[in-house]
Amino acid sequence: MTLASAYPPAGTGLVKHSELETLSQGVIPQVNDEHVVSVLVPEALSWSSLHGLVVGNTSHERSGTIPGVGLVHAPLSLLPSPFPRQAFSQAIELAPLFNRLVDRVSQDADFLRQALARTRKADSFTARLLDIHLQILDKGVKQEIRLGLHRSDYMLDMATGNLLQVELNTISSSFAALGSLVTSLHRHLINWSGDRSGLEAKNVPENSAADTFAEALALAWKEYGDNRAVVLMVVREEERNMYDQYWLALKLFESYGIKLIRKTLSQVTAEGKLGSNNELFIGKQVVSVVYYRAGYSPDDYPSESEWDARLLLELSTAVKCPNISYHLAGAKKIQQELAKPGILERFFENKQEIVKVRSCFAGLWSLEDENSDEIIKEAIRNPEGFVLKPQREGGGNNTYGADVSEKLIQLRKTDGGAGLAAYILMQRIFPAVHPAYLVHDGISSCKETISELGIFSTYLRNGKKEVLNKEAGYLLRTKVADSNEGGVAAGYAVLDSLYLI
Ligand code: ADP
Ligand code: MG
Repeated sequence: MTLASAYPPAGTGLVKHSELETLSQGVIPQVNDEHVVSVLVPEALSWSSLHGLVVGNTSHERSGTIPGVGLVHAPLSLLPSPFPRQAFSQAIELAPLFNRLVDRVSQDADFLRQALARTRKADSFTARLLDIHLQILDKGVKQEIRLGLHRSDYMLDMATGNLLQVELNTISSSFAALGSLVTSLHRHLINWSGDRSGLEAKNVPENSAADTFAEALALAWKEYGDNRAVVLMVVREEERNMYDQYWLALKLFESYGIKLIRKTLSQVTAEGKLGSNNELFIGKQVVSVVYYRAGYSPDDYPSESEWDARLLLELSTAVKCPNISYHLAGAKKIQQELAKPGILERFFENKQEIVKVRSCFAGLWSLEDENSDEIIKEAIRNPEGFVLKPQREGGGNNTYGADVSEKLIQLRKTDGGAGLAAYILMQRIFPAVHPAYLVHDGISSCKETISELGIFSTYLRNGKKEVLNKEAGYLLRTKVADSNEGGVAAGYAVLDSLYLI
């Protein structure tokens, strides 16, 4: 029996119910388990080790601080997961539209500040970000060169066949490098298995995420126009996903001759200063692009020193990826506001573009409006249909199932419901369930899983000139079907790629 016999036949057109059903009818290789364990898994693991598809091993103490120590292969799906071609094309088509949307929202300070006004009162982290935003506005800091390295995440909703957006990441979108390596791994395994596989590598779409991210960083560096300058990556002191980051640094140097330095926010405070024209210096080195791979979570700001660093970077003339306005534009509260009737019209003139963008919006509700009572009651009655989300990034923060009712009841009771404004409510999406071999720490197990598609995109603007606006590869994350959360770094999901059907 071949691997391919397990995959549904190629199909085109809209994602129809019949197609969705095929998706969940099992795509796991019909080759026996022993072949998978004794042949395919070792090949996948040695390939991963030899090609840098690796992360720090949590059981090794120094693996998050010293590169080259305590590496383990990244958690991965042994074979790519099936996904309708049509839905993939739709997600790709949306990428430049979301890039532009982020840029336009970021420039609309009134919209941002109004939309986040109530969140600000209930959430001190958002309040701090808004304080920095206000200082930038007050000082008239111009952000002429704006760089976005985004990832828009989607799930395919089984009930309707619609591709629905989970969230849009504008800061620290991770796994561009490891994601593209997983694609290469899957193509390798298919080719390596030969006839036995019966799969075709051409159905695993190319994935240039790492190269395209490096290209965008290099173009931003070029727009800034100082050949002596380096790129600064803002990192955490401890980072087990460091190889995903080091890959970009390596590509930036090998392809463009640009050097990247890594500093934590507290190191930025200690070593950073502004020059006479507000250029950013770290020690004696001038920095033209600041790329945040930290700074999106309150944990990244244990003291005032880290906030000082964030402000210093924002005040500088360096290109920030993201600048504070892009960061705010990626807030879940903004996602919910954009889904309100009439709001997209503020940012797009073209009606077709509005229809396209709106078609991927799931149900999203604010909890602090006069009219919120009805939806809160509905969510308390039917918690399985909703996800409750705070203004946080990075996984592990959301509430699901029965906990949604409990949390809503508790929030309503406390301080007259003041805390509700720190959350949004979202329609729960139920994607197709399919079997997959998940490989963690050298051990594979066949599980019922669901997948979430992330489309990377890059955007660069310099004043009136749109230098770059494109889709930039993808990441599929797959997790056991009964797990709520989805982060790979947070330990819930594995890296995967697409097998288009
Ligand atoms: P974070 O910023 O923490 O990544 P997300 O909104 O991406 O927040 O939520 C984390 C994970 O929770 C997602 O990757 C997804 O697996 C799951 N999730 C989020 N929203 C929904 C939803 N509406 N329906 C189903 N699962 C969801
Ligand atoms: Mg997410």
